[in-house]
Amino acid sequence: MIIVMEKGHTEAQLDSVKGTIERLGYKPHCIYGVERVVVGAVGHEDKTPLQALELMPGVEAVIPILKPWKLVGREIKPEPSIIDVDGVRIGGAEIVVIAGPCSVESQEQILETARAVRASGAKILRGGAFKPRTSPYAFQGLQVTGLKYLDKAREETGLKIITEIVCENDLDLICEYVDMIQIGARNCQNFSLLKKVGQTRIPVLLKRGMATTIKEFLMAAEYIMSQGNYQVVLCERGIRTFEDSTRFTLDLNAVPVLKELTHLPVIVDPSHGTGNWKYVTPMGRAAIAAGADGLIVEVHPNPLEAYSDGPQSLKPAKFDIFMQEMRKIARVMERAL
Ligand code: PEP
Ligand code: MN
Repeated sequence: MIIVMEKGHTEAQLDSVKGTIERLGYKPHCIYGVERVVVGAVGHEDKTPLQALELMPGVEAVIPILKPWKLVGREIKPEPSIIDVDGVRIGGAEIVVIAGPCSVESQEQILETARAVRASGAKILRGGAFKPRTSPYAFQGLQVTGLKYLDKAREETGLKIITEIVCENDLDLICEYVDMIQIGARNCQNFSLLKKVGQTRIPVLLKRGMATTIKEFLMAAEYIMSQGNYQVVLCERGIRTFEDSTRFTLDLNAVPVLKELTHLPVIVDPSHGTGNWKYVTPMGRAAIAAGADGLIVEVHPNPLEAYSDGPQSLKPAKFDIFMQEMRKIARVMERAL
């Protein structure tokens, strides 16, 4: 249910509405919109009906939320959300580019990449320290050493940093170091991890699972938000289809569909979506044209020797050209980049 507060409501009235919601067995979520304050009352639908809250002072209306997702949808918050990653705002007029290697491999590698992507206009540095690999024998990441190397790259370049979490036991450690946490495709429906990350207040980049429908993807985001962390950015990164000319099939339909259904920002990963550096620029252009709020791209100083995802990584010089191409489309879309 959405409890819409009157324009001139008092703090005491709002507190009293929240208290009543809790007493009736629901969880209140306060959403401060541009126009109005609403309280989402979320919980099992078999509890006491909330319609009577309409009689409380300061309440304008009580409206049911028809969709299975409650906090993620446009019903509760029609205007787009902007997620602030320590000053880098995702979901506003500016297209935000996150770039860096698939894996952090050494201090030199991450520093060299960070300097290059910053010079080309990226705002956030990516780099995996804990890697979810298909084979247990493949490189699993430098772990805490990788986090330290990322931290040093942030210190030197001023870029914000993002890394993937694969196990909830690492949550506190990762939160100490990074500005944003990535939940990868393979953990998109790891509900226990989603809930744990939801209990923090760190911005989250949630990637779509390779076999996750858009509705399931939105419910995954709802898991995080249901715990009180509203700082969620969605990422389309390709789904598995019968097509085998590319690593995955980048589902750009997801961009306008998600934009219609949710107020959360949507970014696109053309690196994993194609698996081939040659297709990264055309699909990046298409993503911005489709309405994406940003891109996440893999860049490596020496892709031939990368520990992971070399074939889809751009060299720094190619990334610079990529950014010039993205700027052309951003201009057409009247977005800053
Ligand atoms: C990654 O970003 O390197 C990664 C593993 O992505 P995904 O979860 O989309 O496969
Ligand atoms: Mn990768």
